[in-house]
Amino acid sequence: MSTNPQSRTGKSVEIRGFLIDIDGVLYIEKQVVRGAVEAIEYLQKKEVPFLLVTNTTRRSRFSLLNNLKRMGYKIDRNQLFTAPYAAACWLKEKNIKSINLFMRGDTYREFSDFRITTNKPEYMVIGDIGEDLTYNNLNQVFRQVMNGAKMLALQKNRFWKRNTGLSLDAGAIVAALEYATEKEATIIGKPSKEFFEQALKQLDLPAENVAIIGDDMESDITGGAAAGMYTIAVETGKFPEMRPRRNSKLPHHIMPSIAALPAWLESIS
Ligand SMILES: [Mg+2]
Repeated sequence: MSTNPQSRTGKSVEIRGFLIDIDGVLYIEKQVVRGAVEAIEYLQKKEVPFLLVTNTTRRSRFSLLNNLKRMGYKIDRNQLFTAPYAAACWLKEKNIKSINLFMRGDTYREFSDFRITTNKPEYMVIGDIGEDLTYNNLNQVFRQVMNGAKMLALQKNRFWKRNTGLSLDAGAIVAALEYATEKEATIIGKPSKEFFEQALKQLDLPAENVAIIGDDMESDITGGAAAGMYTIAVETGKFPEMRPRRNSKLPHHIMPSIAALPAWLESIS
């Protein structure tokens, strides 16, 4: 299947595959977006390749997959592309053997191909440590970086919104370590170039033939466009709080929700 929408600049593009953001697009909080399961099934029926992409740093693809299956999505683990997995792919590509992890949840499962060590690791991989943060464990990371470990951060978000209120995110911890060590972390999550490069490699399509669908103007739309993709914003999730400025050229297309994707694809093919 190949489709040729006009971008807002009038240039016609051929879309052969999709990167689809998860949170705010396929579900919001724990609620499935109406019509989203059917939209994914439509892509599968038409054999359009896609990956579900997310910055989630507390979950491995294994538990994320279970979560999506419970909501009715019939997908495979290899259709999930997460920040921890992107980090593992990136480290492997760099031929890194030894790492240490500063994160919680079951994300460590993505790093089974590496030697996890506190003894001079080549890279310190920093995710969301949340409530497990103590002076002692932060200081250990600091010492390892001072001893030569490079920092790879899964994301650098300042804060996030929990039901108890705004909360410090991993970015604040990364910034503290950067400040103390006077070294800079490589950021692997969306909207980094590295994230999208790894995802496109896995999708096996050039950026100009891929559309990204997301609710976040920064990490999905601006980041996706910078990586060379056609961008589609959905008006669900975060979108109402960060709608694009009126004179902005991005996104290339806006739809009310991902439920509108099949009809849109039919209309342009
Ligand atoms: Mg999102």
